[in-house]
Amino acid sequence: MNGGDSLAFDVHPHPAPVTAAERAALLANPGFGRVFTDHMVTVRYADGKGWHDARVEARAPIPMDPASAVLHYAQEIFEGLKAYPTADGGVTLFRPEANARRFQVSAARMAMPELPEQIFLDSLTELITIDGQWIPQAEGGSLYLRPFMFASEVFLGVRPASEYLYCVIASPVGSYFSGGVKPVTVWASREFSRAAPGGTGVAKCGGNYAASLLAQAEAIAAGCDQVVFLDAVERRYVEELGGMNVFFVYDDGTIVTPELTGTILPGITRESVIVLARQAGRRVLEQPISFDQWRADAASGRLREVFACGTAAVITPIGAVRHPDGEFAIGGGEPGRVTTSLRQSLVDIQRGDAPDPHGWVRRVA
Ligand SMILES: *Cc1c(COP(=O)(O)O)cnc(C)c1O
Repeated sequence: MNGGDSLAFDVHPHPAPVTAAERAALLANPGFGRVFTDHMVTVRYADGKGWHDARVEARAPIPMDPASAVLHYAQEIFEGLKAYPTADGGVTLFRPEANARRFQVSAARMAMPELPEQIFLDSLTELITIDGQWIPQAEGGSLYLRPFMFASEVFLGVRPASEYLYCVIASPVGSYFSGGVKPVTVWASREFSRAAPGGTGVAKCGGNYAASLLAQAEAIAAGCDQVVFLDAVERRYVEELGGMNVFFVYDDGTIVTPELTGTILPGITRESVIVLARQAGRRVLEQPISFDQWRADAASGRLREVFACGTAAVITPIGAVRHPDGEFAIGGGEPGRVTTSLRQSLVDIQRGDAPDPHGWVRRVA
């Protein structure tokens, strides 16, 4: 093997995969992130040797030394994207090159080696090829792919590790909103922030999520579904949810989303929504929006809809906001018209039910 920009994968099929009957039972109601396929992909990296040992094999526990660097210093990054079934029995991915590039950006920020784009893309194709039977064919179903990488070097000491393990696992998921799209209530935390200037907000790293869990627990305790994080410096400007970007729709049709200043994760759904909205003739502004402005515009009725977006749920309407001093609602508690139409345009492209003028959809099987 070599440390070049592509690798040949050694394929070792699972000796005893789940039976077709068991798989059908699991696929009947997979939920989200609870069911996993038979296989995984792994690729190793070592300083001096580069990327090597690319394998497709049975999904199994990963033996790990207790001194593995990730367990102590948290060098870990991940991605998330979905494989969709096509009407003719094929499989597509939505903008996987964007995930490959973001994985490199995340790696660079965490002082980890950048996985070549071709290896990233090939790793997805390998897993989809061997586990294609796990893609739910039911309406709204997909196979959620989770590429991730962590520091596997055995050492205690604060420096970038010299060895890493890249891995991809896959999880069949059902339609996120089985009972129809329902607006969520978000909690604006005063105490906790997600990402500080100069920090790791721009990287999709596990540590950002670890830091958000207490705020999420606070949200649940306040009867909310999700946290909306405000900026870490002034606690004044709206940034994003724990794992979704946020958009505001005004009565004149203008759409506003917080600009990417380094503390917000650049969502691929976010970027796609901006393109689709502009294509539909809407004015889209990337600019700061303060929490006070949000509250005032909701009260005046100027603000008509707010929604969050990300790969898992695509687009989720936000119906109400709770904060330590009170609560306010947006719209009439029903998903708004613009939210619904943007969601439908995006889903139709992802599912192959509409033309794909931007070349976002990649056929992989
Ligand atoms: C992954 C993620 C998003 C959404 O990104 P998509 O590419 O649209 O799935 C938004 N915010 C955070 C913090 C994330 O980790």
